[in-house]
Formats: sequence, structure tokens, C-alpha cells
Amino acid sequence: MPQSSAKPILRFAPSPNGRLHLGHAYSALYTWNAAKLLGGTTLLRIEDTDPERSKPEFVAAIFEDLQWLGLQWPEPVLQQSERFDIYADAGNDLRDQHLLYPCFCSRSEIAAKATDKDPDGAPLYPGTCKHLNRGEQIERLERGDPVQFRLDTASAMARVGMLTFTVLGPLVTDRPQIRHARPERWGDVVLQRKGTPTSYHLSCVVDDSEQGITHVTRGRDMEAATDLHVLLQMLLGLRSPIYHFHKLILDDAGRKLAKSRDSESLGDLRAKGWTAADVRRAVGL
Ligand code: GLU
Repeated sequence: MPQSSAKPILRFAPSPNGRLHLGHAYSALYTWNAAKLLGGTTLLRIEDTDPERSKPEFVAAIFEDLQWLGLQWPEPVLQQSERFDIYADAGNDLRDQHLLYPCFCSRSEIAAKATDKDPDGAPLYPGTCKHLNRGEQIERLERGDPVQFRLDTASAMARVGMLTFTVLGPLVTDRPQIRHARPERWGDVVLQRKGTPTSYHLSCVVDDSEQGITHVTRGRDMEAATDLHVLLQMLLGLRSPIYHFHKLILDDAGRKLAKSRDSESLGDLRAKGWTAADVRRAVGL
């Protein structure tokens, strides 16, 4: 559905599975600047749906770091871990459309059978469990085998036909352009798993729509994932924001900063005596 809302609403949606680093600071400052340019507001959303990696201390650190950067947002802040029922409903909607199927493959089985990679470089799911018959599915579910629910992307694409979305760029004030989405390059992505009725992709599109987000500003590393988001929006009858992709902050080796590579956190920099102005200077905003 196209956006009609008059006042732009943007969002910054970090996942609390580590401390924020300069890459997050750039993305946050960029988003608040974009909201200012567009005459809108930025909401903060905590994307804590991963029960293994999300930690309350990282949520607290997000608030602390963003306040330290001088950023402000309206309350209440949406915290995704409080909304699993809503994401489960969205999953059920896809299930009712016969677009989800159970998958029992382990990571190593997928890696062994995959012949291609997804846009993030991970093994592309070879579709093994798509061919299980109903009896086999029920038997394995009743046995309590670890299960994930995957989107049947080919069937979903056949339902929606040609998919497009609107992007702004290179500046957020540039004229909108229409871009084709190619979600098929992600294969059959996982949207739910045992004990967790959502995935990042599912809760992201549900909340962007429900919060009335008109503009999503995100790093270029998220450009390909947007194709999948547009597909889910169509399938679920959700609003589709305008997208804008910003550059990434790289380390000295030219790699994207990452929590997993122990990039120095904003907390570390603060402890070393950095100020918010130093952060702005370092990221060029
Ligand atoms: N929680 C995601 C992250 O921290 C947000 C990405 C987005 O949807 O913009 O990478």
C-alpha cells in the first residue's frame, strides 16, 4: 500500500545483542538528521526478538548511548519482545495462505547441500523440506524435532507478481525512484522457529506498518533484505515505507564494523574521554 501520511515518521531500530559502535552512531545520527530535513520525527524501536542474543543490559546501553549522542525520541519505545503474539498472528496469516512450511534441516545439512549463496553470503537453503509430505511433517512435529518455518518464496512470488518499492537517493531529499524487488535471491527464508514465532524480517515489517513509518533509512548492507520486506508487506497487506540506504562506516581494513569483530563500542570511546562531538566528527555528521 502506498504511503499517504503527511508527517514523515522514521525509526532507528537497533538489536540489543551487543554494545553500539560507530556504525550505529552514524546510522542513528543520519536518521535523526534525515527526519529533520524531511520535517518529521524519529522513533526508537528495540528489536529484541532473538532470545539468545538480546540482553537487558544492552537495551539499557542503547538508551544511554543515544542520550549521550544528544538524540531524543517520543515515548513509549516499542520493544519487540513484548509483541510476540502480534508477530505470531502475522505468521498464522501466512500459514493460512499456505505459504509457510516446516523445515527440520540443521545448519550443517544445509551447508552440505547448498549450491548457492544468499545476498549475505550464507548458504542458500536448497529447499529440502519443501518436499516432505503432510504425514512426514506431522510425524516429525509430533516427535518434537527442532523446527523452523520457512516462507515458500516461489509460491509467494507467484501470488504477488512483479514487486517494486520506492527509494530515495543518494540524498534523502532526492526524488523518489521505483526499484524492482528480487526476494527470490534469498530462497525460502526462516520466518518462525520453535519457541520464537517471528524472525527479524517478519517483526520488522509488522512494526514498520503499525508504527506508521513513512521512511526507512538503513545501511547499504540492508538493501537486499528490503526485497524480502516488500514481499512480506504485500502478502500481509501492510504499508510499505519509502526506503533510503546510507553508506557504512568501515574499519581500517575496509570491513563493516561489527559487534562480532569486537569493534570499539561507544561506551569504550566514552570511557576513553570521547565526547558526542568527537563521535560526530569521526563519522562526518
Ligand atoms: N535491528 C536491525 C539491526 O540492528 C535493524 C535494521 C533495520 O531494519 O533497519 O540491524
